[in-house]
Amino acid sequence: MLGQMQSQPLLISTLIVHAERHHASGEIVSRRVEGDIHRSNWGQIAVRSRKVANALNGLNLAFSDRVATLAWNGYRHLELYFGVSGTGHVLHTLNPRLHPDQLTWIVNHAEDKVVCFDMTFLPLVKAVAAKCPTVKHWIALCDADKLPADSGLPGLQSYEAWIGGQPDTYHWPTFDENSASSMCYTSGTTGNPKAALYSHRSTILHAFTAALPDALSLSARDSVLPVVPMFHVNAWGLPYSAAATGCKLVFPGPAMDGKSIYELLESEKVSMAAGVPTVWQMLLGHLQANNLKFSTLKSTVIGGSACPPAMMKAFNDQYGVAVIHAWGMTEMSPLGTVCSLKNAQLALPAEEQHKVLLKQGRAVYGVDMKIVDDAGDELPWDGKRYGDLLVRGPWIIASYFKGEGGDPLRYDAQGQGWFPTGDVATIDPDGFMQITDRSKDVIKSGGEWISSIDVENIAMAHPAVAMAACVGMHHPKWDERPIVVVVKKPGAEVTREELLAFFEGKTAKWQIPDDVVFVDAIPLGATGKMQKMTLRQQLKDYVLPGI
Ligand code: AMP
Repeated sequence: MLGQMQSQPLLISTLIVHAERHHASGEIVSRRVEGDIHRSNWGQIAVRSRKVANALNGLNLAFSDRVATLAWNGYRHLELYFGVSGTGHVLHTLNPRLHPDQLTWIVNHAEDKVVCFDMTFLPLVKAVAAKCPTVKHWIALCDADKLPADSGLPGLQSYEAWIGGQPDTYHWPTFDENSASSMCYTSGTTGNPKAALYSHRSTILHAFTAALPDALSLSARDSVLPVVPMFHVNAWGLPYSAAATGCKLVFPGPAMDGKSIYELLESEKVSMAAGVPTVWQMLLGHLQANNLKFSTLKSTVIGGSACPPAMMKAFNDQYGVAVIHAWGMTEMSPLGTVCSLKNAQLALPAEEQHKVLLKQGRAVYGVDMKIVDDAGDELPWDGKRYGDLLVRGPWIIASYFKGEGGDPLRYDAQGQGWFPTGDVATIDPDGFMQITDRSKDVIKSGGEWISSIDVENIAMAHPAVAMAACVGMHHPKWDERPIVVVVKKPGAEVTREELLAFFEGKTAKWQIPDDVVFVDAIPLGATGKMQKMTLRQQLKDYVLPGI
């Protein structure tokens, strides 16, 4: 016997329909690339996403065609979130911090048909456009009068002119909720980046869970500032959960410095903010230097890399702001765990509570997790034993876009597929997970990834380099910065400065290592692979230059 409830597919368009009908006056405030503050609301966002939908329909795209964005957090980006996915196209959020060659590769791999970009990125677009043959339409996210006459991009249109003449009525189509809705490339630890392809269903289910009290705890009374960029993992699901709950959204645009963020937090009465530790470091630095306090901020979600204990203490003890530590991945939409205490922990002394809050937290409903040993056997949840962290659930990747890399899942005795996160973790008896290590060697700098292999490949291209290993070193501001450890070819000479100069123009500036360490040998394992754990051990007393 089947249940007799109405069957409605879980589609992203339903979020914006709900937001307009029930939260039309809910504010959407954006600092624009132009520098001014723009004020909109859910009602206007809904109208303009319908104009986007009509404009897209005029481009003769096929269902599931990719429409890319190269944009900061702002109201136009939000309109595209709903307009693109709502029409059955796939929103592909491009990361503007990538090197132009990486960006070109990704646009071509995704076969993007349209790219909508903020004017900040015009030079980047000009550098890649000729090498992106699949892109038929370049749209600048600006008013018609801001469009440069000599952009060099054939057919370039302004977003406002593109949607301006469109009708504001549109009937959102109904289709299979498992259809692709958006995509995000993750920096591959080996080889080229791979894309996670989200579905309408996975996005909506994730949005429900993200809003729960023990997750991000969103309500119509909240004013939320996502510092986490909308070009990364759909900004942790916040745009969707915000539409579902009707909370106010405050977008920082390109201004991520402590002063600009602080101004917005105060002027827009922000109650909750979300971002990576690096941004919060800058914010705390600004508060401390200017002896400021928060008047409305109650909580801040910190994720993407581990929240440093001193940061959590500063937020909690000096500023009365609760830190919500969260963990996830591009492959997980991204939410996996959030750290909020249970009654048992509330009974603990403050210092003990603080230790628990530093963990990455408990699995949210929808995500199951386990830790396994090398043989794949599940390890106990004793808070001590650590193993590979595996996850499963309806918003966790089943396979990468175009099947790249084969089947990523590991199957248990029941035939259930688990995604290996590449993280190593403990889980305590109350279900609090803590990341102890990263089995991958990617370097996390300011919330962005640097592939150690990319760095090594460039170093190895230098004629004097015999072997190169790139490892991340702790940095107080950026979390980690790469250094490259080099063995020179016998009789060959290269200085630190020459090698660093060799990186110029071959990768993005921020991906260039901070230092070169020359050694006689790099430790190798039995199969000839570099042993980075041992190397890091050898470098344990190393300090980055200038710290
Ligand atoms: P990404 O796919 O770029 O979002 O990166 C995902 C990876 O970032 C995870 O596999 C972890 O290694 C790391 N990560 C994310 N959140 C945290 C956190 N709260 N603490 C420690 N590492 C984290």
